[in-house]
Amino acid sequence: MPSQGKLYVVGIGPGMEDMLTLRALRALEQSEYVLGHRTYTQRIRHLTRAQIIESGMGQEVNRVKRACELATNSIVSLVSGGDPSIYGMASLVVEYIHKRNIDVCYEVIPGITALCAASPLLGCAISGDHVVISLSDHLTPWEVIEKRLKCALHGDFVVVIYNPSSRQRGDNLLKALEIVLSERGDAPIGVVKNAMREGERVCISSASELFESPELVDMHTLLVVGSSETRIDDGVMITPRGYARKYIYR
Ligand code: SAH
Repeated sequence: MPSQGKLYVVGIGPGMEDMLTLRALRALEQSEYVLGHRTYTQRIRHLTRAQIIESGMGQEVNRVKRACELATNSIVSLVSGGDPSIYGMASLVVEYIHKRNIDVCYEVIPGITALCAASPLLGCAISGDHVVISLSDHLTPWEVIEKRLKCALHGDFVVVIYNPSSRQRGDNLLKALEIVLSERGDAPIGVVKNAMREGERVCISSASELFESPELVDMHTLLVVGSSETRIDDGVMITPRGYARKYIYR
């Protein structure tokens, strides 16, 4: 008999409740179980009557296994911060289900990722082509990260940096800033901590300034490295989309 349950992988956005999509809200309301890291389950627990099952960092595979078991007969939401496809739980769920050929019906519900929350807080830092890179070498070797960062800088993309710092990887940030300084010079860098949630802090810095003050950056921060076209105007970070080349503003 086919599975009677359903597994939703729910992107809950950056944190503020009104940054959650209606589809995510409906999934949470329908669910009998909600699984996730405590940071995320805490944010949405008042929106659901489901039984909450929390687990910590490093428990991702077990969490997915448990969610799949429960989703054989029940409606289950597995919550992921921001968007589940951007350094979130989606790939693990999809890989696990397909590799093991498990009979579970699933749906990934997108969420507002950190970069979409951070960009308008800076002005319009990301207006066109950009590259997204994580400095976490937990699942990706550092040499690969370094190569991708160099290529992105060569391509003159705006470079959005996730996971810029953590207690275990403090020097990855300094190594990345060194690469920025050598490839792009003292580029402007938007620093957004806790975008669109409690503790929000926004500042516009530069590669050399952050190199001197890396304590401005922590694991709740996103960095936006400007391209050669990025300008700071009245404290606002602007990467022009190109309209001024084509039209005269009146
Ligand atoms: N899936 C998440 C990203 C998870 S990776 C998303 O789509 O947003 C975790 C990293 O994302 C953090 O180290 C930080 O760099 C960034 N991040 C997540 N939420 C953030 C927020 N509200 N403000 C700033 N950075 C955030």
